[in-house]
Amino acid sequence: MRILVFNAGSSSLKFGVFDRARGAGHETTQILKGSFERFRDGACAYSLEVGSHTEGGQIDHADIAAAIEAVPQLLADHDIKGIEAVGHRIAHGGPDFAAPATLDGPALAKVEALTPLAPLHNPANLQAVRVARRVWPDLPQVGVFDTSFHLSNPPRVHTYAVPQAWRDAGLRRFGFHGTSHKYVAERAAEALGRPLAELKIISVHLGNGASVCAISLGKSLESSMGLTPLEGLVMGTRSGDVDPGAFGYLNRQLGLSIAEIEEALNKDSGLKGLTGSADMRDVEERAAQGDPAAQMAINLYAHRVRKYIGAYAAGMGGVDAVVFTGGIGENSPSMRRRICDGLDFMGLHVDFDRNQQVRLKDRAAPQIQSYGSRVAVLVTETAEQLQIAREVAAYLDRPMARAVPIPVAVSGRHVHLAEDSLKALFGPGYELTVKKPLRQPGNWAAEERVTLVGPKGQIEHVAILGPLRKRTQIEVSRTDSFALGIDVPVRDSGQLDGTPKIRLVGPHGQIDTDGLIVASRHVHMHPDDAAAMGLEDGQNVAVRIGQGDRALTFGHTLIRVQPNAFTEMHIDTDEANAAGIGPDWEGEVIDLEAHLDAV
Ligand code: AMP
Repeated sequence: MRILVFNAGSSSLKFGVFDRARGAGHETTQILKGSFERFRDGACAYSLEVGSHTEGGQIDHADIAAAIEAVPQLLADHDIKGIEAVGHRIAHGGPDFAAPATLDGPALAKVEALTPLAPLHNPANLQAVRVARRVWPDLPQVGVFDTSFHLSNPPRVHTYAVPQAWRDAGLRRFGFHGTSHKYVAERAAEALGRPLAELKIISVHLGNGASVCAISLGKSLESSMGLTPLEGLVMGTRSGDVDPGAFGYLNRQLGLSIAEIEEALNKDSGLKGLTGSADMRDVEERAAQGDPAAQMAINLYAHRVRKYIGAYAAGMGGVDAVVFTGGIGENSPSMRRRICDGLDFMGLHVDFDRNQQVRLKDRAAPQIQSYGSRVAVLVTETAEQLQIAREVAAYLDRPMARAVPIPVAVSGRHVHLAEDSLKALFGPGYELTVKKPLRQPGNWAAEERVTLVGPKGQIEHVAILGPLRKRTQIEVSRTDSFALGIDVPVRDSGQLDGTPKIRLVGPHGQIDTDGLIVASRHVHMHPDDAAAMGLEDGQNVAVRIGQGDRALTFGHTLIRVQPNAFTEMHIDTDEANAAGIGPDWEGEVIDLEAHLDAV
């Protein structure tokens, strides 16, 4: 499976193409990786890696939106074809997205509604989704949410001590960078050769955005970002922790509105607010040249991270490993050293040389603690795109999630005749004339018609479908049953015992026969499709059909796997009209019915 991943952040666009092998191991490999960042004066820095080929430099894209638009052409230029799914990093998923999700209309509306909680991120994420939906309208677009990993946080962590009415309105802590923290923790456990489920890890993601996460026995216990990605550490342009009393104070002293304060806390604070530059490379350079504001910013930055590491070690009752990642965590030995200085009291010592000599190619995760340090300290590149690709693949490989479209056929009323009925209705030795073949192999519609007669009314010109069957079966809709004046049960095809009688009238004669049913909806399925979707004969599923106002999910839909079957859902005219279905519509199996009932 080939997956394109978009990671549109607050100040950069990263993207990648990954191949996920089917079968054992499910290895996910990178085919292409690219980024656009440092947007300034209508241009940005760009880099691209395809196999051993690398390119980069300045390019004329004014902002992230323009960079996103350029990606499809870039893929075409490098002959990258066959994309089967698009994965999107979505910063804020709120309380509803505990796992990856298909970004269809309702999901996108939810993400859009969360924009006020992630004003720097969700709009960029959505921009990428819009471009991808336009360019690849037929591919699944799957969101992987930064917040999902932290939905495991216990109430003592995610609750703010504020009035009930505010909490009822949704005020709570979420946490972000979940994809990165999860990947980094898994990578650290792998490098340490110990099961993640036995470790207490503090993941320190220091990029343009920054957060610390306590991962206890594989689960996020707590992280430093909150309701929005503003809480916690000092970041590129974000303040991190500030006394909420600042709002009232700034309003009274400087006459600033809430919107102005919020804007400044998000976009003009952090390293930028302290030094004029949001970029740690600039800040470190200036500090080295003796700039006191830059030196103070670095100290403040390191102090805040150190404080969180200490707090999270206390929160977890110990720590086995601290892992640094993100642009700063991966590339700045001096910042790692500053943060770890003073953590000796908890048994954490960094080795000077190992820290200086970190090399991170090919998913390396070197350990930089000194011999005898009780706490391991690791550095590794975060691989959010890779992790997103893995999660998208796992999501699409779920038994029920392969969105194999299923053609929907609307069955009008019809009759299957047995030999003796044919004889009675059309005369001895009569043979039906094939009018047209049906999509199920070996089945056809006949030229001949019959009339159904019930106590209340009759229905003429009813189709006959061949070939002949052992028992005569008459399939009508519920609406037809009212017209006929017979209470007709819903039955699977062939389940005819105890069904009501009806009169059939043909050109030669008439018969009264049982076998009158309203056919249960069902899906004829080829064994290959069933295998691809993880379905078995006799299972019930839910199928979603249609769009817009009349879209309907049909529960209790029987899967009928038959050799050579043409995969197709059969519903009757009542069901089709209820869902506003036209010709050539397709449905999508969305879930096992057992699961649907459970939720
Ligand atoms: P990210 O958001 O993960 O791409 O990280 C961006 C941050 O990493 C920016 O503040 C960069 O200045 C910083 N960064 C990247 N390389 C280095 C480096 N060699 N030394 C210090 N900071 C760096």
